[in-house]
Amino acid sequence: MADEVLTYEETIAAYDPVLGLEVHVELGTATKMFCGCPTTFGAEPNSQVCPVCLGLPGALPVVNEKGVESAIRIGLALNCEIAPWSRFARKNYFYPDMPKNFQTSQYDEPIAHDGWLDVEYDDGAGGSAVYRVLIERAHMEEDTGKSTHVGGATGRIHGADYSLVDYNRAGIPLIEIVTKPLTGVGERAPEIARAYVSALRDLLRALGVSDVKMEQGSLRCDANVSLRPRKKRPEKQEDVPLGTRTETKNVNSLRSVERAVRYELTRHAAVLAGGGAVLQETRHWHEDTGVTTSGREKSDAEDYRYFPEPDLVPVAPSAESVDALRRTLPEPPVQRRRRLQSEWGFTDLEMRDVVNAGAVELIESTVAVGATPAGARKWWSGELARRANADGRELGELGITPRMIAELDGLVRGGRLNDSMARQVLEGMLAGEGNPAAIADARGLALVQDEGALAAAVDAVIAANPEVVDKIRGGKVQAAGALIGQVMKAMGGRADAARVRELILERLDS
Ligand code: ADP
Ligand code: MG
Ligand code: ZN
Repeated sequence: MADEVLTYEETIAAYDPVLGLEVHVELGTATKMFCGCPTTFGAEPNSQVCPVCLGLPGALPVVNEKGVESAIRIGLALNCEIAPWSRFARKNYFYPDMPKNFQTSQYDEPIAHDGWLDVEYDDGAGGSAVYRVLIERAHMEEDTGKSTHVGGATGRIHGADYSLVDYNRAGIPLIEIVTKPLTGVGERAPEIARAYVSALRDLLRALGVSDVKMEQGSLRCDANVSLRPRKKRPEKQEDVPLGTRTETKNVNSLRSVERAVRYELTRHAAVLAGGGAVLQETRHWHEDTGVTTSGREKSDAEDYRYFPEPDLVPVAPSAESVDALRRTLPEPPVQRRRRLQSEWGFTDLEMRDVVNAGAVELIESTVAVGATPAGARKWWSGELARRANADGRELGELGITPRMIAELDGLVRGGRLNDSMARQVLEGMLAGEGNPAAIADARGLALVQDEGALAAAVDAVIAANPEVVDKIRGGKVQAAGALIGQVMKAMGGRADAARVRELILERLDS
């Protein structure tokens, strides 16, 4: 039976949302966190394993230096304190895809703590606002293996005929980044949750520490939410104790983060408004139906019997090594975005579309190989973004390179193609027909370059439309549109409309 929900408006009118976001990021190191096994995605099951990551008796772990460096760089980029001394801990629980029966993690001594990240979000009133997300901690741990349940309708263990387990992923380095409870998010809670994960993804990508592919699970988000009664006087709101949270696990796209938070808040509101109590539990998000369902009950004091890992030495980076890593940090994404926006001359609205389309890097590369910023933006955050969205793919996965878009932009600017021809060439590019110039040749797409023929067509249309000509001469320049249309028709659509307009106005001027 479906859970009851209130509308989002009713939810926000009565309650104040609080968020808590846990993000797991898989590092892009060549080898695992505690052994030398490779981390290549998609390899033959159980081909990237050894006694350490299989948890065989007597096998001893050794920490991956690159993994620690990445953790420190992430911590620094999130404005955290870096612990001069921290330890790994064993988190004990049984799960078939975790061969050691404990996960090597960090507990009360995380490598990074107490940071923040400023996040820009859509304020819902046509502008953008900034929310400062407070970071509780970022700690190192390892991934588990992966179970596949075969047979049965749902792909879950219930009703399956048998299960397979692949330990290739067991031991891949993970960083878990946990926020403090985020208060004061108000009705934009879902957008802020999404904007945070998106900003974090940009930051991690800029750091070069992970491929941050949510659909492949290298970036995963657990979204905690709770509600507390809304105070009439906003200044009193912070005094109200936090409500009971639920934790929606493994939400694996930005859009799902926003939808899952919105749904879960309305579900909490219905429970509370009906006089009930929210159960502290994990929930599963269902992309198809847009609801969450109950997972397992979870108390704060879940007994993992954490204790310090005896087989690994403490991590104690020197102040100099931390400073050296600090010098490798890239320009912060928000600052970089502002700089690029002003270099490119985009309006706030244009830049927001570009960011939402995930096109910042692609536009940067396209401009670097010769396109105008406006030309690069037009294609990447226009037609290509639409296409990627419709296919559920990333912009970078369409098989279109920055160089191809720069070439297309060049053909338009050089007067060889008009807009509608360029769109046909783009279709060809998406269909894998090759480079823009070759596609234009193969499809016979080219503007008439013969000025004499163009001028003759313009003269003929002017002669045939004396009333329109009078209007234009009388100051109604918009009327030229009708003449341009006729010239374009006479030229079989193969004329440059801007040039035709120029010719018409030139002639009527004299
Ligand atoms: P767990 O082990 O249950 O995953 P964590 O401490 O790792 O717990 O993460 C819990 C997350 O939920 C953190 O981001 C925390 O700030 C947040 N949180 C804690 N209490 C609340 C609450 N009442 N409402 C919303 N978020 C909360
Ligand atoms: Mg957690
Ligand atoms: Zn191994």
